[in-house]
Amino acid sequence: MDTRLRKHSIAELFEPLTDLATESERLFPAHLEFTDPRGSTTSIPRFLFTGPGERSTFLRVGIFAGIHGDEVSGIHAAVELLRRLHENPDPVTGYELFVYPVCNPWGFSQNTRWLKSGADMNREFWRGSNEVEVLMLEGQLLRLTFDGIIALHTDDTSHGLYGFAKGHQLTRHVLEPALESASRFLPRNFDRSIDNFQANQGIIEQGYPGILGAPPTQSPQPFEIVFETPHQTPADLQTAAHIAAITAILENYRSLISHAQNI
Ligand SMILES: [Zn+2]
Repeated sequence: MDTRLRKHSIAELFEPLTDLATESERLFPAHLEFTDPRGSTTSIPRFLFTGPGERSTFLRVGIFAGIHGDEVSGIHAAVELLRRLHENPDPVTGYELFVYPVCNPWGFSQNTRWLKSGADMNREFWRGSNEVEVLMLEGQLLRLTFDGIIALHTDDTSHGLYGFAKGHQLTRHVLEPALESASRFLPRNFDRSIDNFQANQGIIEQGYPGILGAPPTQSPQPFEIVFETPHQTPADLQTAAHIAAITAILENYRSLISHAQNI
């Protein structure tokens, strides 16, 4: 494939954000770059968004999309979310967001699930991987000790919305209203078994080893949600569902945390 075209597609994706960031006091591009000893550079796009509120008590949330490069609705949702927050930051009052819209840029450019090596990025975390993209993101997860981690995916075997809940004990109570909110756009998957896991109202509390998540040593654990839209449905509805889910997750986590602290 033509290199110019590939680069163009990532640049085009971020063009609206790059323009907005120049006039914003909340939105900052802060892309990751790593150059190996042979001089080959790997970049992972990253945007920071600072919500309104008291900085010293900010909750820090990482939003990760495009882990599988062919699951573009999450990628578009991450970009669109930032564009909307630029217009109205109120939904993220009390938060600082670290948004990684395309965790697997090579996969995105080739429209494939896989990393360039052929590995599935989402089976490589915290298992001694040598994949440079995984090492770069593990570094972020270690350094930033997120209060919450949201990963956006699409599933071509599911007919409806569902999610994985891990980490903090409140997580399932945050995922539930997110599924409810997103079901304004697409149906929820109520099957008892999804993706070979036991599921309850679209919530799975197990998971694959090696998925993107907090370092196993992090304590206390953040909430960790993998949100899945059905791949075979219209892309704009999937994007809307992702955004509705993220918004509900952040709103409900904030109120659950402040409620817990007041008890
Ligand atoms: Zn995926």
